[in-house]
Amino acid sequence: MPFSFELEAEDAATGARAGRFGTPHGSVLTPAFMPVGTAGSVKSLSPDDLTAAGCDILLGNTYHLMLRPGVDTVRRMGGLHRFMGWEHAILTDSGGFQVMSMNELNRVNEEGVDFRSHLDGSRHHLSPEEAIRIQDGLGTDIAMSFDHLVRLPAPADEVSEAVSRTVRWARRGLDERARLRDQGGGRMALFGINQGGTDAAERARCFAELARMPFDGYALGGLWVGEGRKLGLEMVEHDCTAFPREKPRYLMGVGHPVDVLEAVARGVDMMDCVLPTRNARRGTVFVSGGRLVVRNAAYAKDERPLDPECDCSTCKRYTRAYLRHLFVSGELLGMRLASVHAVHHMVTLVRRARAAVVERRFPAFRSRFLEQFASRETLAPAAS
Ligand SMILES: [Zn+2]
Repeated sequence: MPFSFELEAEDAATGARAGRFGTPHGSVLTPAFMPVGTAGSVKSLSPDDLTAAGCDILLGNTYHLMLRPGVDTVRRMGGLHRFMGWEHAILTDSGGFQVMSMNELNRVNEEGVDFRSHLDGSRHHLSPEEAIRIQDGLGTDIAMSFDHLVRLPAPADEVSEAVSRTVRWARRGLDERARLRDQGGGRMALFGINQGGTDAAERARCFAELARMPFDGYALGGLWVGEGRKLGLEMVEHDCTAFPREKPRYLMGVGHPVDVLEAVARGVDMMDCVLPTRNARRGTVFVSGGRLVVRNAAYAKDERPLDPECDCSTCKRYTRAYLRHLFVSGELLGMRLASVHAVHHMVTLVRRARAAVVERRFPAFRSRFLEQFASRETLAPAAS
């Protein structure tokens, strides 16, 4: 199978790592930030925009794609890569997060989850096996195990039961991939997902089981759901200490620049989040000096780019004044140009962190980044 993970360097003072994950659609440099291509598109951006931003992997949502256009259509069109015109790597989630968080009317039992589509109310079923078959049909490079998550805060026995079920479902997913491989399919890598919420003992118990299964990588699940940065990072540190050094580690749903850098410092290799691009479409972007609200009246005649330190195509060419004008006028180009910057900014952040690890200067890079991000340098006051 054409998957490999190599560590090129590890920071001596922190847990930060620089690596490379090989897939049939090219290498993924780690740490990696994955923009979210929910329904086969990172909203408003083309594959060329993503490539120009330095992106070598994106995330697709199984839940959205299975409902529309459906896995059979994607398979018939040659798989998700060809369908959306993306030549680089794709990671798909298992659909579990959406069926359990977006749907009020879901029923979870040992077999799987029954749910209704948010599009038309039609009934669907997702099981650990079906989640693997769908991801295989999409032609993903990295599939995720179907896990049971609980809304936090939750009683201890509920968290514990979700951990036990996650372990049972993890094994069923691996068995299904083995079955597909016997038939010539199932070529994708498969990551297990650690659960247990913010209970360190439960997370340890979950991972003790998952570690015995032949996953190609491990994800940190059930975090950044409202527990707060301090506790979230404690769990990240805890999981990364337990996870094997030689396999990639993926922290799900984290996309604030400070969280991303702090997770990298604790040994995380991959992250995804809709936050940077969703914010961008609403007119807020992260820049070196913090968070910039594009509509702010103070930028009406500002000749500077969004981020004077950024070399994305938006920052090379357009002023804050123009971007603000586009947002105030409701012009679609505003969303697109802000999204170009947002993806470039996150990918550049992890690339710079990677270079700092390789060049043995990560701690200094981290301090300088955090200091500058908190400085709000070049930004107008938030209130406007
Ligand atoms: Zn930029």
